[in-house]
Amino acid sequence: MNQSDSERISHVIEEMGYRKAVSEEEADLLGVLSCSVRQKSIDKVYSRIAKWNKWKRKKSLVTFVSGCVLPADKEKFLKLFDIVFQPSEIKQLPEMLSQYGVASSYSVEQLYPGLEKREIFDFWQVDPDYQSGFYAYVPIQNGCDKFCSFCAVPYTRGREVSRSSGEIVEEIRQLVNNGYKSITLLGQNVNSYGLDKKGEEISFAELLRKIGRVTDESGKECWIYFTSPHPRDMTDEVIEVISQHKSLAKQIHLPLQSGDERVLMRMKRNHSVEKYRSIVDSIHKLIPEATLFTDIIVGFSGETEAQFENTRKAMHEFKYNMAYIAKYSPRPGALSARWEDDISNDIKKKRLEILTDELKKHSFEYNKTLIGKTLRLLVYGADKKQGYMTGLTEGKLTVRFPSTEYSLKGSFVDVKISSVTPFAMEGELIPDNTQKAENIISYGAEDCI
Ligand code: SF4
Repeated sequence: MNQSDSERISHVIEEMGYRKAVSEEEADLLGVLSCSVRQKSIDKVYSRIAKWNKWKRKKSLVTFVSGCVLPADKEKFLKLFDIVFQPSEIKQLPEMLSQYGVASSYSVEQLYPGLEKREIFDFWQVDPDYQSGFYAYVPIQNGCDKFCSFCAVPYTRGREVSRSSGEIVEEIRQLVNNGYKSITLLGQNVNSYGLDKKGEEISFAELLRKIGRVTDESGKECWIYFTSPHPRDMTDEVIEVISQHKSLAKQIHLPLQSGDERVLMRMKRNHSVEKYRSIVDSIHKLIPEATLFTDIIVGFSGETEAQFENTRKAMHEFKYNMAYIAKYSPRPGALSARWEDDISNDIKKKRLEILTDELKKHSFEYNKTLIGKTLRLLVYGADKKQGYMTGLTEGKLTVRFPSTEYSLKGSFVDVKISSVTPFAMEGELIPDNTQKAENIISYGAEDCI
């Protein structure tokens, strides 16, 4: 979400006449998009601004912070950064910058005539400055109404707001026509899309159907993903639609957070393990080839050994291909921050290791079944291993293959799998079925998967 927001903020800044600096050290204007989900991310923001403020003693520099900012952090940020703003306040950015004597000859009103007439500035109307020429993020919704007890997002991003489906489908159509090969629909809670505009907007399943149709009919090869859905709002209709459209990627990221009923209740997730199990069953039935990813928190306030063991059992049962496992850290503003963070860091670490081992076991078993098979990959660039290129399958599994043909970046290729590890695979390129990239931008994070 922050990458997507930064693509819009960066577009406005470039339209004001700025150009990207070659390095952080050479920039006159530096900003950071903050994330309040974990303390670690906020700590990084503090260390970054400490560095920038040191540089300010030697050169003229303007700094800003935007993104997901908690009120408590905002107070502190105001003392450290020159400018603090919400992405939705981007309209005021040129004016804020001019207060620092930074040349800004255009206002957003001049750049986007008509926008100033809107009561609420529509951040989504700004054209993004896509950081890649072959993969893109498309926001479909912002904010969250769920108020999980560990999460601060509803306090930083506000309530759920769905973007117009017409606008979303149009952005996808253009991206596909321009040769983009991987598009991710973004939102804090993508599958509650439209619920805030009942009667006016279509549902998430209908939105997916429209996007699937437009992409399939384009005749171009493109994989459409979404992240993240909430198990509470996951319907069989969504899974059916994915199964019916070639372009809707067969990869589902379904946050579990905990495999224990009592912990789920204290997390205010508002669904049971049984409900989660029924969704996974539907996925296996309707899209058996789909890979399954998840998010898990270990050491949540009050989590007992027995409750943690239920999460381990759930991991064993659902056999994930990938899990993003985080040690719990209280977020100021979230309900659980008022509860004792009573699980020691050592126990959290140990639980994280146990789940990682469980994950490794299942992903390794799964990957082994792919040896000898030919997989389609989207190539992201050079691998860390010299003489190799790397890419992701439709199910977002990492595969590398021997090649130094850098022009393959952004292309679809076929690779025959020869060896696997728990989190990566290796294979040989099958030369005849490559669909070359149409437009590659050389900067950006394409090499990092
Ligand atoms: S669903 Fe829960 S975890 Fe996800 S953004 Fe909303 S409050 Fe946070």
